[in-house]
Amino acid sequence: LSQLFRPLDMLGMVYRTIRQGLIDMAAMFDLIDTDAEVVDAPDARPLAVSGGHVRFEDVRFGYEGERPILKGIDIEVAAGSTLAIVGPSGAGKSTIARLLYRFYDLSGGRITIDGQDIARVTQASLRASIGIVPQDTVLFNDTIGYNIGYGRAGATAEEIRAAARGAAIDRFIDSLPQGYESEVGERGLKLSGGEKQRVAIARTLLKDPPLLILDEATSALDSRTEAEILDTLGAVSARRTTITIAHRLSTIVDADQIVVLDAGRVAERGTHAELMARDGLYAEMWARQAAEREAGEALAAE
Ligand code: ATP
Repeated sequence: LSQLFRPLDMLGMVYRTIRQGLIDMAAMFDLIDTDAEVVDAPDARPLAVSGGHVRFEDVRFGYEGERPILKGIDIEVAAGSTLAIVGPSGAGKSTIARLLYRFYDLSGGRITIDGQDIARVTQASLRASIGIVPQDTVLFNDTIGYNIGYGRAGATAEEIRAAARGAAIDRFIDSLPQGYESEVGERGLKLSGGEKQRVAIARTLLKDPPLLILDEATSALDSRTEAEILDTLGAVSARRTTITIAHRLSTIVDADQIVVLDAGRVAERGTHAELMARDGLYAEMWARQAAEREAGEALAAE
């Protein structure tokens, strides 16, 4: 991936915004394997986000003609609230996030943000309004300050420091001999999974988008790091409409709404308490993960 972006490095500031978009997409959507065909409507206007009310109305979608992946999804996320999407592997969770970012066009239905159909607004304005904290953060072979700073073109050193503080990675950076000038990436310092995620959070804080997509890492961080990251993310997502794609149910018990996706349909929805009381797919997934957690803890205690 770094090969792909290296030529852009040389072209400087002008490309930072474009590259930010590319990186967000590449991180989440594996840019190399897909070609984006989405184009702006001739009369496309910039998206005007007031509160960040997101609505999926009978959304239908398939990557290839024959095989439908989403089969009529209705989801409403109130402005500033949190939605967690859970469900078995392949259910279509990441697809929902990709469609909100308009990486693909729908085959039916519509998605609106504050009443505006995302297919009718400019892609640049849509993507500028959405921050993504991906599973795997792509780092440039550059300084850690640079890696945080391209969250927003023209960010000052002070703003970069503030973002690092917000993401709780400032102390770590200050402890490095070269501080914000430390080289990271393939040729520099290797960051841990948790540290990389904090860089992504810092970038997002600089971008300061009204909408947030969190793609929870499948590989578990150790439980203390995970708890700390969740704390940080909780602070970042406060007041922002947040959609979390979750693999571990223990991380989303406080979500305002949980949608359980199964084979491209909404199987259940509600709060954690409501879904537990329902004793359906969610409760079953919860029991299974709790048993796995206990088995893991027992193993660790041996
Ligand atoms: P997981 O929990 O494993 O990440 P998910 O619920 O996020 O799964 P999606 O990534 O949304 O699932 O994928 C839903 C379905 O769409 C899967 O069957 C997958 O094979 C298919 N799919 C995903 N991306 C593509 C693509 N680029 N081209 C074709 N099919 C795809």
